[in-house]
Amino acid sequence: MKIPKAIQNLIDSFEKLPGIGPKTAQRLTFYLLHVPQTELDKFSLSLQNLKKDTVLCSICFTIGERNPCDICDDSNRDRSIICVVEQPLDVLAIEKSRQYNGLYHVLHGKIDPLNNIGPDEIYIKQLFNRISSHESPITEIILATNPTMEGEATAMFISKQLKAQSSKLKVTRIGRGLPTGADLEYADELTLQKAMEGRREF
Ligand SMILES: [Zn+2]
Repeated sequence: MKIPKAIQNLIDSFEKLPGIGPKTAQRLTFYLLHVPQTELDKFSLSLQNLKKDTVLCSICFTIGERNPCDICDDSNRDRSIICVVEQPLDVLAIEKSRQYNGLYHVLHGKIDPLNNIGPDEIYIKQLFNRISSHESPITEIILATNPTMEGEATAMFISKQLKAQSSKLKVTRIGRGLPTGADLEYADELTLQKAMEGRREF
């Protein structure tokens, strides 16, 4: 007996997700066969709307419901500081720590030569353009890429370019409270608070 096509299609889709192997893909699919149809409809609607109802902010490149995003549009935020992060989830993590009231810039990745990701593959150029064309001057750039090898290399690259672009700009790197190799999005609020407070010239 062959696996019904509808089941095989879903298994194939699950298998394409990061961290999901063939066994888990099968298990999830067969689990869903027991879920009421109304729940499945909700699930599939969420999937359908995932990209339709979200938009990339054209200023900071985070993902939100409108463009510009709520943070870029908020006049109460300090517009002289930009915090540079790898992923939109990092914005949420830092926002949760309530330690920061400036703006963000989301790179959507990191420089990773082993996987053929150079500076041009992520939103670095947009950061430089943003700094040079910003309506009010930027005084500080906080580099909050992850404390991994690639995250450090990315921070180093940006810092060098920024200093070549302007000597007056203060460039800082978030503190060492974060364990090396860790991802920002998994850090707890207190650790992130400390990391933000402990940022230093870079
Ligand atoms: Zn934005």
